[in-house]
Amino acid sequence: MKICKNGHAFDKSSSCPVCPICSSVEMGEKYGEEFPRIGAPAFRAIDSIGITRLTQLIKHSEQELFVLHGLGPKAIKLLRERLTEKGYHLLINKY
Ligand SMILES: [Zn+2]
Repeated sequence: MKICKNGHAFDKSSSCPVCPICSSVEMGEKYGEEFPRIGAPAFRAIDSIGITRLTQLIKHSEQELFVLHGLGPKAIKLLRERLTEKGYHLLINKY
């Protein structure tokens, strides 16, 4: 177990030393209601490629997103569904 600077105890066996509680609060504040609840690792993944708005995702294909650390098939499905609801689509894979 590790303790973060805000006093949350968390179990971290992976290589990312980020407190999941702080991280989801932070990401929730940053991304708000526009995004589905994809979880903190997935938010960090899209954050790492500079995505701050849902519609910025349409510049990327599903395969591009899939290779990001933290973004799994479930998160991608949620993002795709949310985009579809709003009338947007991820790029078609060029392969
Ligand atoms: Zn914390």
